[in-house]
Amino acid sequence: MKAQQTLTHRETAPDLDFDAIVIGAGISGLYQLYRLRDDLGMKVRCFEMGTGVGGTWYWNRYPGARFDSESYSYAYSFSQELLNEWDWSEHFAAQPETEKYLNYVADKFELRRNIQFNSKVTACHYQEKTRSWKVWLGDGSEHACRFLVTCIGPLSTPTFPKIEGRESFQGEAYHTGLWPKHEVTFAGKDVAVIGTGATGVQAITEIAKTANTLTIFQRRPNWCKPLHNKHISKEEMEELRAWYPEMFRLCRESFSCFLHTADPRNTFDLLPETREAFWEKQYQTPGFSMWVGGFKDMMTNRAANDEVSKFVARKIRERVKDPKVAELLIPKDHGFGTRRVPQESGYYEVFNQPNVDLVSILDNPIQRITPTGIELADRSFKFDMIVYATGFDAITGAFDRIDIRGIGGERLKEKWRRALETFLGMLVENFPNMFMIIGPHSALGNIPRSIEYAVDWVTELIKYLCDHDYTYVEPTREAVDDWTNFVIETGKGLLSNEVDSWMTGINQNVESKQKRIIARYSGSAPVFREKANTVAAGGYKKLVLD
Ligand code: NAP
Repeated sequence: MKAQQTLTHRETAPDLDFDAIVIGAGISGLYQLYRLRDDLGMKVRCFEMGTGVGGTWYWNRYPGARFDSESYSYAYSFSQELLNEWDWSEHFAAQPETEKYLNYVADKFELRRNIQFNSKVTACHYQEKTRSWKVWLGDGSEHACRFLVTCIGPLSTPTFPKIEGRESFQGEAYHTGLWPKHEVTFAGKDVAVIGTGATGVQAITEIAKTANTLTIFQRRPNWCKPLHNKHISKEEMEELRAWYPEMFRLCRESFSCFLHTADPRNTFDLLPETREAFWEKQYQTPGFSMWVGGFKDMMTNRAANDEVSKFVARKIRERVKDPKVAELLIPKDHGFGTRRVPQESGYYEVFNQPNVDLVSILDNPIQRITPTGIELADRSFKFDMIVYATGFDAITGAFDRIDIRGIGGERLKEKWRRALETFLGMLVENFPNMFMIIGPHSALGNIPRSIEYAVDWVTELIKYLCDHDYTYVEPTREAVDDWTNFVIETGKGLLSNEVDSWMTGINQNVESKQKRIIARYSGSAPVFREKANTVAAGGYKKLVLD
């Protein structure tokens, strides 16, 4: 512990149980806990719903779950010791390794002693008189703190499809985001998967290896790109380690914190054969190269986007033997990269296997789930297992499930239903002393990079409050308006904001999420940081401090 100062908060409000409460022990919560406790010397409690650390990497233990961004670029950068000690075994590590890594972090920094597991936060109410937060858990216990930091993730609230009879199914049924810890086997079983997003694509590829039969119910296909994962040898790990300072600089300077950056050329400035060769190379390059490293007009110029989409469609036709199946797998309602691009390792070849069947439910939706399987209007199927890879109530979902109330008892859920507004995705007007790590309108991209920045920014703000004996912080109306308008302006012209996806606030299984909104900041990460740094450097004038 390296407490740097004596905080006055417990003196000014002796009844508080904690200086700060952190909700969630995922990538954000672990780092936030560490910084508040070890750098600010605060009394902190972290409440975690699960029985272990890891957040996303604790819950999403479905078969095939692995990083889509390079392991080393996804890891924490804050501790040189940690960087020296931890070796990655693959360029895109699988979930067990990531969960192990996060456990290693929790142990190394002795974080567990401040984490209370099995503790679901159900309500957080701001207390005006004491300028504090009361936090309730599922067991009814009540905890009071000055500062509340939500580290609850943008993709942490799994949603099941609204299909009649779902509960009646007598076989095994799993949501990928709530995958059990016990071993689930597929051998000899007839398995159904519903959903073909980034999760479904990973799970399907793995399940197809052993299932007796695998039937994939696809509503809308996604454009997928090969991951090209590889083992990391000891020597290569040492080279990567030596590269870390430069690598983190590249991440910091890139648009969305990935190791890949857009090509500065426009699609139609090049000869067709030149762009074809470029895409071919990108298709063979590991990771998000082809998505975030495409030509600079790919995400804004429809004709340019059509060209790269045609290239990927050709690849799908080459890889899938049955032309009818290939056509079903080619998206027709959106262009390449306008929804999150799933990274695949043999996904398209799965459809050449005799045990795999693709059922398009776009025009022929599932009518009901029965005790023995799934019924369409014209066919019925029997299954031993149904896997729901049906996604999340993204960005606001985890907030909506906690009864969060600010000044005057205003409910956050209702406030955001009227208008989604934040300041820098980290603060909300009328919800003093509450900070969000990766809240709505935050920079996302390569998420741990955005997380580390947000945690550092929030920690510095809390330190500033403590140093100046402030017990109250919230953003001004003007600051919220400015940020919200900036986020909306930044999103204009982006093809991805004209497509239904979790990124545009759509989830057909959630009643309140049927209309597109701007749910995330889609500008550049360096600009985001520049704006947030300016606020801090200017003495937080955009905030009400008292
Ligand atoms: P998702 O992208 O929202 O996909 C959900 C899938 O379920 C879609 O195919 C959707 O079809 C389908 N679906 C939902 N409700 C349905 C219904 N009622 N009937 C039929 N189909 C239904 O969710 P996800 O695949 O879990 O991925 C979410 C995000 O998590 C990703 O975009 C990514 O950011 C992150 N993720 C990251 C990694 C990684 O880094 N390694 C891996 C997996 C996921 P429609 O498209 O027609 O709605």
